[in-house]
Amino acid sequence: MVVELISVGTELLLGNIVNTNTQFLAEKCALLGLSMYHQSVVGDNEERLKDTIRTAIRRADIIILSGGLGPTEDDITKEVCAAVMDCSLVEDPHTKKRLEERFKNSIKKDVPESNWKQALVPVGATILDNQNGTAPGLIIEKNGKTVILLPGPPDELCPMFTGQVMPYLQKLQPEVIRSRMVKICGYGESKVEEMVLDLIDGQKNPTLATYAKTGEVHLRVTAKAASDEEAGKLLKPVVKEIRRRFGDAVYTEDEDESLQDAVVKLLKKYELTVTTAESCTGGMLAARLVNVPGVSDVFREGFITYSNKAKRKILDVNKATLKKYGAVSEQTAKEMAKGGVFATDADICIAITGIAGPDGGTPEKPVGLVYIACYLQDDVRVEEYRFKGNRAKIREQAVVKALDLLRRSIIKNYKKD
Ligand code: ATP
Ligand code: MG
Repeated sequence: MVVELISVGTELLLGNIVNTNTQFLAEKCALLGLSMYHQSVVGDNEERLKDTIRTAIRRADIIILSGGLGPTEDDITKEVCAAVMDCSLVEDPHTKKRLEERFKNSIKKDVPESNWKQALVPVGATILDNQNGTAPGLIIEKNGKTVILLPGPPDELCPMFTGQVMPYLQKLQPEVIRSRMVKICGYGESKVEEMVLDLIDGQKNPTLATYAKTGEVHLRVTAKAASDEEAGKLLKPVVKEIRRRFGDAVYTEDEDESLQDAVVKLLKKYELTVTTAESCTGGMLAARLVNVPGVSDVFREGFITYSNKAKRKILDVNKATLKKYGAVSEQTAKEMAKGGVFATDADICIAITGIAGPDGGTPEKPVGLVYIACYLQDDVRVEEYRFKGNRAKIREQAVVKALDLLRRSIIKNYKKD
């Protein structure tokens, strides 16, 4: 089945807002196994919107529109759609009641006059209650085509799509689509692709796709089958084979698990505490760790030691080390990591020192040079990186590599098989 997306809003055309709804919907449609050949953005203009909808109806089975369901004059999506599909609008008592209930709890109590138009729905449409706003979503089926209207605000659209539209679309599809996301750290995208090329080329079901993220590569394995169980059977050997090829570089198969989640899980598993000593990343590593709920069991304090003075004062880095090798050096990184452990009594310290640029580079120590050290059980491991990109990119890559070094160090020291 073919699906097409239309995002409505002049704000999108002007670049005032980023079209995150399209990204969200496109990804979800792919997961559902729907084919997508076109996406459009159109302003709040009746004629152009009509034109866009007509074109989409001609070439797709399912058309999903987002935005323009609000109460204001420029919100015209529903009215235009109804006109194109030759449906009249009628008042839906259930939505009317929902609007009244919603406004009862607000200061003004009464439903504003302009909001009443949100209770008007195309005859025969399925109504999707909006838990986070006023405009209901709508599914209109006519002449073998399905048109789905969703509110523009992502906090309304996303839960509505996941909770109500996805189950509806799943029923339209005879097959189930299931996928696993194998997340890999420590290999570049081309290397990963090279290592699974035979799996990509040789297989139609499951299929394999690679996605490059900063410092990571994700492999999506997708299977189509008649049932959940059958899809699981198809996925299992392929995921196992990927794991065999990449070993501990695979940190999860769970779509929702991030690298920091995996690191915190490992720390908890082996009952270890960690601290951070950051220079060029200025707390970004600590922030990534603190993103994980429940991190307080394993992370209690971290340091931003940007200046030489701070490195000496807080982490007890030797003055002579700084003088002889410089702040961005293997030796300083090691002493920072060691100092972090001694200052906090944590089991592990990860230290980062580098040149994020754009200034400060020299031929011997260019912008992008970063040392990451991990101190654990009286042993310190340090890695040198030469990252490419701007300041933000360099710092981001350093954080990913630091999380991965932490992960690998724990596995190396504690994993028993
Ligand atoms: P409202 O009731 O808020 O008017 P609506 O359904 O009419 O909702 P729009 O008026 O088109 O939707 O957009 C409202 C807001 O939703 C925008 O200001 C923007 O913040 C967000 N939004 C709309 N479309 C998108 C999109 N494609 N991607 C991300 N955000 C969007
Ligand atoms: Mg609006």
